[in-house]
Amino acid sequence: MHGDMHGVFAVDPDFERELDWVRRFMKTHVWPLEVLDVPDEEFEVVLRAVQAEVKARRLWAAHLPPELGGQGLGQVRLAQLNEIIGTSFWGPYAFGCQAPDSGNAEILALAGTPEQKRTWLDPLLDGRMRSAFSMTEPDNAGSDPTRMSTTATRDGDTWVINGHKWFSSNAVAADFLIVMAVTDPAERPHRRASMFIVPKDAPGLEVVRNVPTMIGAERLGFGHPEVRYVDCRIDAANILGGVGDGFKIAQMRLGPGRIHHCMRWLGQARRAFDMMCERALQRDVRGRPLADSDLVRSWIAECAADMEAARLLTLKAAWVIDTRGAAAAKTDIAMIKYFGAEVLNRVIDRAVQVNGALGFSGDLPLEHMYRRARAARFVDGADEVHKIAVARQVLKGYRAPEGPWPSDHVPTRRAAAAGFAADVLARSDHDS
Ligand SMILES: Cc1cc2nc3c(=O)[nH]c(=O)nc-3n(C[C@H](O)[C@H](O)[C@H](O)COP(=O)(O)OP(=O)(O)OC[C@H]3O[C@@H](n4cnc5c(N)ncnc54)[C@H](O)[C@@H]3O)c2cc1C
Repeated sequence: MHGDMHGVFAVDPDFERELDWVRRFMKTHVWPLEVLDVPDEEFEVVLRAVQAEVKARRLWAAHLPPELGGQGLGQVRLAQLNEIIGTSFWGPYAFGCQAPDSGNAEILALAGTPEQKRTWLDPLLDGRMRSAFSMTEPDNAGSDPTRMSTTATRDGDTWVINGHKWFSSNAVAADFLIVMAVTDPAERPHRRASMFIVPKDAPGLEVVRNVPTMIGAERLGFGHPEVRYVDCRIDAANILGGVGDGFKIAQMRLGPGRIHHCMRWLGQARRAFDMMCERALQRDVRGRPLADSDLVRSWIAECAADMEAARLLTLKAAWVIDTRGAAAAKTDIAMIKYFGAEVLNRVIDRAVQVNGALGFSGDLPLEHMYRRARAARFVDGADEVHKIAVARQVLKGYRAPEGPWPSDHVPTRRAAAAGFAADVLARSDHDS
């Protein structure tokens, strides 16, 4: 590590004032959205009013660069902000950074032509359009997307897409989908696929159903649909970047995108932790608060350390992106992706345990948080995939010692130490 990490630990006073505003705003305007019992149409009116306040405060879509209307905060300050936004599932919606729209906006910003940006990016950033990202397929492991089967074939002034996708989040409500499809199966794996913009009314696009998930019913048409492309025809101009650029664009977007999830998980874990500590102090068992139990105290201490470690790893990865770029932060991002997801799940699980039946019930947000958090361990790359990547990188710093023994083998070292000592002793005899 090199450079000044001061900004990672100390927030400058002006930005701290903003964070204070966000903390208050989340409690007064965003957390209430979680429990608002009104139809979707009314909910949307309330959400738009909340979004308008965020825009007026100039905190809308803060992850974007200034030229796209973001604040150019850098990743460290974004981490400090996202941690607070992440305390509620509705936070990203209120602050204009919800998946998959935020990632799709980044793709369009990175790879879109001026015309594509005008047609799709501007209304997406404004919140006038919604979008989906369609890559995962039921027939192929999402963990190895180079194996995807969906194809796109050029036919005159059009591309014709055929394939079967699922978990294309938001596809029911989306105005357009960004679709990944194979354009040249003979190419090397990471040059086989390209990305396309498919408008919702493209002929041959069929949104089959929302796949039911652990998350349960979702608002505003959100869900995780199965989608079929049957001779789905789109304009030739709807390709993003060049033919074969699909993985390159996905990679540019996914790295930084992943860490934004990790930042928000810190806030989710913190909120679960607060519910755990509060209940531990409140609930009497055998005449003493649960917090008096050494077992519960041990969980609290372990969770506190886990969360602090996750926070520091996230800030470190953010700092590396800010100072040396996203490519240099690849291993840091992979590490926080699985560590953060595991901590999130562990903390929520223990918070449920300490709250007992109440924690399991819909009378606390924990059960909803628990169901959502489970996906964190495999979306955007499964824990195992990231662990393998980190281990591969770590192992580059080692080589197998020559001979049959590890380099710290005690008998071998003892023999070497004896030789070394004999030399020293012989020299001291000689000198005296
Ligand atoms: C809520 C939700 C939203 C989603 N949104 C989208 C979306 O908008 N767009 C989209 O395209 N996709 C989306 N997905 C799909 C998601 O990206 C995939 O689930 C993910 O990439 C994993 O792919 P898979 O489900 O096919 O699992 P598989 O690739 O079949 O993997 C299954 C399991 O195998 C294990 N595994 C994988 N690789 C290895 C390995 N190398 N070594 C050891 N073990 C391994 C892991 O435990 C993994 O969980 C979403 C999924 C969920 C649950």
